[in-house]
This record gives sequence, structure tokens and C-alpha cells, in this order.
Amino acid sequence: MRGLSVRFLMPGGRRVAAVADAHFDVAAGECLALIGESGCGKSVLASALLGLLPANAQTAGEARLGGIDLLSAGERTLARRVRGRLIGLIPQSPAAHLTPVRTIRSQLEETVAELTGVRGQAARRAAAEAVADRAAFPLDHLDRYPHQLSGGLAQRAATALALVGDTPLLLADEPTTGLDRDLVDRTVDELRRHIDRPDAANSGGRALLMITHDLAAAERIADRIAVMYAGRIVELADATAFFGSPGPRHPYSRGLLQALPDRAFTPIPGLPPELGDLPDGCAFAARCDRASDTCAALPPMTEDVACHHPLAGHGPEHPRPAAPAPEDIRA
Ligand code: SF4
Repeated sequence: MRGLSVRFLMPGGRRVAAVADAHFDVAAGECLALIGESGCGKSVLASALLGLLPANAQTAGEARLGGIDLLSAGERTLARRVRGRLIGLIPQSPAAHLTPVRTIRSQLEETVAELTGVRGQAARRAAAEAVADRAAFPLDHLDRYPHQLSGGLAQRAATALALVGDTPLLLADEPTTGLDRDLVDRTVDELRRHIDRPDAANSGGRALLMITHDLAAAERIADRIAVMYAGRIVELADATAFFGSPGPRHPYSRGLLQALPDRAFTPIPGLPPELGDLPDGCAFAARCDRASDTCAALPPMTEDVACHHPLAGHGPEHPRPAAPAPEDIRA
């Protein structure tokens, strides 16, 4: 993804910058967790990758997968080659994505027939049950309709549907919503197994972009973390360093972790800004205890953090050690 931006043109000529200049890679066999508060633009970014934005959206930049630029691809390419085949989606509102008048079994079998080479009713039935089991969906509920499912079961049905196509990229938008902690762990462990499992078509494994505000789930599954605030990626970090030592470097990322009950349990003061009314400088300044006059200018992404005064490691309080002289390297 290179400079991906999405803005909405609203009545009266107002413009809402929902995603601005997002820039990152996700490798095969890797899970990148995109975290941030609700309304920060995470799901808009996911919709942009699938060509599912409303008509008043404008996009810029590039998002490449398998030789296709997802932002400029036409609807025919997206429908026939991308959705379900190159990108599997676990949607944020599973109940709204399931067909209400068909059983889960029927929807799974149809998806198996459409996306895989499995032929014959018995084989399709077996494949549908296998993928339901992988998503922890109880087999004795397969003949139920979506309205007969709890929110958690609808979530698992949607996860099963997303796994059918065995896609090189799985896009999971809040995949643990409505699940209790045991099922959260089971769901993310299955997603992890899914991306790690090599086969002929995906010899390096699959990639997972998981959008979540469940930091415990992100810590359990992710290799890398991308933090989004007010439409911008403000930090990219190795997950172990982010959740452990030296910890996050952006003040907003630190605030997210300190808000957790098993850490400081201290909420970030204030509220995020309206995406349609962002300041010219750092959008976090009104909530930031490190803000200075410098922050009136938009901080560039430098060494994977967009902050004029980052924490720990490379910031002004903890300067990075000077590079060794060539003679020291030789020694
Ligand atoms: S740029 Fe300034 S206001 Fe923004 S997060 Fe960094 S220190 Fe805080």
C-alpha cells in the first residue's frame, strides 16, 4: 500500500478525509494488526481494498496485490478475481453479510462450489463442514438461518465463509466482536494457523490484515502493528517490541496500551477529532501531554513513527546511539 487516501465528498461541498496517505506492506505468512479507536478510518481502508466504498468516495495512491492495483481495478476484475479469490473478508457486521433466507450450510456449500474445485454434493457438504469446524462453528447449527444465531455464532459463520477461498490475503475486520475470551483466543489461533499453513498455491503462507480494537487479540496473533489515528497511520512496529520492550513510541499508541485494565487502566483524555474538521498539524495534539509548538505542523512518518517528540528509543529523551565509526566496526 502506497499513499492510500480516501475522502468522501459530502453535501454542501464538505470533504471528509477518512484515510490519508496510508503506506505499509503485509508479507505472505505475516499478520499485521491495524489498531485504533472506532471511527479512525480502519474499516474505510478495508472497504477501499475490496472496492466497496460508496459512490461519493474518492481514492488516491496504490494498493497492489498479485499484480493488481486494487484501487484502480474495475468492478469486473474485483468481482471475478479479487473478492473471495485473492482477498477473503471477515466483515465487521456478519449478520448483515449473511443471506437471511438461506441456512448457513446452504451458504457455505454455495461458496465452496463457487470458489473451489470441489465437485459433487457429498464432497461439497464435507468441505463445508470442514471449514465450519475450522471456524469453531458448531456443526449441529449448520441448518439454522442467520436470525437463529447469536452474534458470536454469526461471527463464526462469516469467518467460515471467508476461509473457503483459501485466499492469499485475509482481511479480518473486527473478527472477534461478540466473542467471549475463550472464543477470541480460538478464533485468532485459527486465523494464525490459516496464514501459516503452506500449500502449493501459497507456499510462503498467506497474509492477514486484521483490523481490531481488541489489543489482547492483536497481541496474541500479530507479527506487526499499525496504529491509526484520525485517518493516518501514526506508528508501525514489531508486535513484540510494541507490547513488550521498548514499547510503543507514539504518544497515542502509549495511551491505547495504558487504557487497558491489565496495565494502567487510564483512559486517553478527550475525544478524537471529527474527520471532516482535522487540524493542519498533528491531529492528536489536543490530547497529547507531549505537544509543543512544533506539533502545529503535520509530523512526517520518520523511522515508522509520525510524531515530533516520540517516546523511548529514538526520541529526543532517548537519543539513538551515534553510529559507530568505521574503525570501530572493523575492530
Ligand atoms: S506530534 Fe506532538 S502532539 Fe502529535 S503525538 Fe507527537 S508530541 Fe504529541
